[in-house]
Amino acid sequence: YAKSNTKGKHQFFDPAMDEQLKRRLNVIKELKGALENDEMVLFYQPQYCLKTNQYIGVEALVRWFKPDGTIISPMDFIPAAEDSGQIVHIGEWVLKTACEQQVKWTQEGLPPLRVAVNISMRQFKDPNFIDYVHETIQSTGINPKYLELEITESMLTEDAMVFIDQLSMLRLDGITVAIDDFGTGYSSLSYLQRLPVDRVKIDRSFIRRVESNQGDKTIVSLIIKMGHELNLQVIAEGVEDQEQTDVLVELGCDEVQGFFYAKPMHANDLKELLLKKQP
Ligand code: C2E
Ligand code: MG
Ligand code: MG
Ligand code: MG
Repeated sequence: YAKSNTKGKHQFFDPAMDEQLKRRLNVIKELKGALENDEMVLFYQPQYCLKTNQYIGVEALVRWFKPDGTIISPMDFIPAAEDSGQIVHIGEWVLKTACEQQVKWTQEGLPPLRVAVNISMRQFKDPNFIDYVHETIQSTGINPKYLELEITESMLTEDAMVFIDQLSMLRLDGITVAIDDFGTGYSSLSYLQRLPVDRVKIDRSFIRRVESNQGDKTIVSLIIKMGHELNLQVIAEGVEDQEQTDVLVELGCDEVQGFFYAKPMHANDLKELLLKKQP
């Protein structure tokens, strides 16, 4: 990185790339201390079961509230945090906070919700990852069957064997595993069959026009059929309207998540929503 500032190297950079690099370095600098200063906040987006017609889980989605009042989306800092390794620390906080919240909601009288946490490649490669998950389960007292880890399909192509072992170990504890953004990566079907996973999340790019585009509908239908053949649950992400929901019901999709049901929100707002909907 330092070399990008020296004149000789500079010319090899496309100016737009250089800008992007500077922004990324700046984010890394600003991220230092963000956790300690309580600038990270977890939002939760509900997941709805189409078979039982009830909210069944939530996905934890991190937000960065900077002291200057701006809210930074994870898309704008997770990649930088992965580069710098800060994601490990952030990810540990996310996991612990999400598990604590799950326990708190249950104590507050909500039906127990599954809480899904996004895990990045860098976290998986961290030698303490498995231990940290174990410790977090113990220290928070979460029933592991309500903890789900989300990994993206693109991670599977990188180092699949690392995953198979680690995921199998974690699943022995009772936690579940979902493959996020499914359909956008290049994971082979044989991986899917061998991988210790419980759920696939159909990427929102296929859901966007599922009611109007025959090609997208066919892909969604095939993912659902394939998932069910492999004994996996299937959830669709990015569901924004009734028409999309109708198609997903018709195709036999198990669960849905999206703005049509609710946007990601603060823990207390989610509690109120669920108390209203599930008295
Ligand atoms: P993701 O895991 O695929 O999460 C779903 C994203 O889709 C979320 O964006 C969510 O707000 C958005 N979304 C949900 N429903 C709809 C909808 O109906 N329409 C549209 N247009 N969007 C919808 P968000 O919160 O900005 O997160 C973006 C990505 O950042 C996540 O994608 C995930 O990959 C990553 N991320 C978020 N939190 C964490 C985290 O704690 N750790 C790690 N490693 N990654 C995270
Ligand atoms: Mg996710
Ligand atoms: Mg996703
Ligand atoms: Mg996505």
